[in-house]
Amino acid sequence: MDEPVDVAWLVGRVLRPGRSSGAPLADDPRRRFRATELVACRTCRGSGAVGGYTGDDPPEWEEEAWTCTDCGTYGRVPADTPLLDRPPVPGPFEADPDGVRQAEEATRTAVRRLAPWGVPAVDRVVWRVGGPLLRPVKATLPHPRAEVLRRLLFREWSDELGRIPHHYVPLDGLTSLFATRAAWHARLDRAWRRAADRALTVPASVDRPDATGRSMADLPNPFAPLIGIWAAGYAFADATDDAIHLVAPEPA
Ligand SMILES: [Zn+2]
Repeated sequence: MDEPVDVAWLVGRVLRPGRSSGAPLADDPRRRFRATELVACRTCRGSGAVGGYTGDDPPEWEEEAWTCTDCGTYGRVPADTPLLDRPPVPGPFEADPDGVRQAEEATRTAVRRLAPWGVPAVDRVVWRVGGPLLRPVKATLPHPRAEVLRRLLFREWSDELGRIPHHYVPLDGLTSLFATRAAWHARLDRAWRRAADRALTVPASVDRPDATGRSMADLPNPFAPLIGIWAAGYAFADATDDAIHLVAPEPA
């Protein structure tokens, strides 16, 4: 079994793709692109806060009482720009073909390994390229269906697995929010490895027929390849029912 990642090192790699000199990327119909454009969040109309009732009795409506959960305090969300066959800016696709291949391979492996947990086994990758950095989506697991793993690893098995330390990332702009996500994936990876080492069995309470009753030692770890995406300098944004979404910043 490979060693857990060095989280401090990983955090330093987030959204800092390198340069590589491999063969240029071949066309791949499974690879699409979209430009990064930010628009005002529709939920909070760009203010970053939404109204809500106060805790008073009787409760009173207060404008901008709560942080907007769709965009955080950011107020802007990525626009649903059209999918393109070619990157809107060449960016890393010319500078780092090996890193892009590594990130795509890792991302497909991660999603394939999540299939027993009910995550759709998609292999289309949509890259959001260049432009302003967007706030990472709120979900911290690759897909809402994978939430079942958080419950298992951090609640049901908390006694068996013991305390799995956090890696604290100081908040310093948007890149640090992505780094926090990478550190969380590294923590999931550690928890998974412990569960596999202890050969814990997925209990019947987990409604996932392809995983229930199996030993964690026999199920493939989806978080190790997820870390490979961050380590290559790219960001895992999201997996939806029809595509995996990655973020590629423009090379420095
Ligand atoms: Zn908002």
